[in-house]
Amino acid sequence: MHLPLATSLAGKRGLVVGIANEASIAAGCARAFFAAGANLAATYLNDKALPYVRPVTDSLGCKLLLPCDVRIPGQLDAVFERIRTEWGQLDFLLHAIAFAPADDLHGRVVDCTAAGFALAMDVSCHSFLRMVHLAEPLMTAGGSLLTVTFYGSERVVAHYNLMGPVKAALESAVRYTAAELGPKGIRANAISPGAIRTRAASGIDRFDELLAAEAAAAPEHQLVDVDDVGALAAFLVSDGARRITGTIIPVDGGQHAIA
Ligand code: NAD
Repeated sequence: MHLPLATSLAGKRGLVVGIANEASIAAGCARAFFAAGANLAATYLNDKALPYVRPVTDSLGCKLLLPCDVRIPGQLDAVFERIRTEWGQLDFLLHAIAFAPADDLHGRVVDCTAAGFALAMDVSCHSFLRMVHLAEPLMTAGGSLLTVTFYGSERVVAHYNLMGPVKAALESAVRYTAAELGPKGIRANAISPGAIRTRAASGIDRFDELLAAEAAAAPEHQLVDVDDVGALAAFLVSDGARRITGTIIPVDGGQHAIA
């Protein structure tokens, strides 16, 4: 089999979960998927979010735009049921969502409440497994599952707090997913971007200091943007990445290499 030299997603169908607005990491990924020729379905959190999501998805010819708050029982199932009836098959999925209650996120990890921890894990980690579970029967020709993590999972990053253990669990979930679904030709990977100014990032205390520290540490002293993440995401869901699974891949301007 000859691999295409440039990433092509022609004929592939993907679901993008996590567009809040045009600055979202999921929006950068969706733009890259579309540019590579994919057909896209997407979700929005609720009616308040819709006016910010629709302009992004309309510009990408996305005909399936469905509500999905993963905390509302049945909404995620309805998304996959709609994909089953419209497409009958799914080739890739991007999970780019996270949430932690502010009080728990802004305090010490050792002080977080059981309820706050459980909610952060549910929205940011277990929702990935639920999506995988629902995607599996639709990935009849194999598939690619992607999520988004952060290096605060491995090392202590000031103010990342509760999201550190949550992202560590997400990364482990990716590895188990890769092992369990590999025999069906379904791959699972996580992208680990450097810090990017998005709505979710504004919930992290002193985020500007993190951006400044990252720019100083990165070999080229450049920050990452959502299009950098999109370029990797498009490759990872393409056939060119067919032997890449169970991996956490940084897109951080190389700062992970610097002590
Ligand atoms: P964002 O605010 O643009 O996106 C976060 C998304 O999570 C939003 O679309 C929001 O609607 C969704 N979400 C929150 N609660 C939800 C729920 N209950 N049900 C469904 N969706 C829900 O921010 P982003 O930075 O693009 O975040 C996307 C992912 O990237 C997150 O997993 C985040 O942890 C990760 N990440 C971000 C950075 C960064 O610096 N921005 C770095 C590394 C990883």
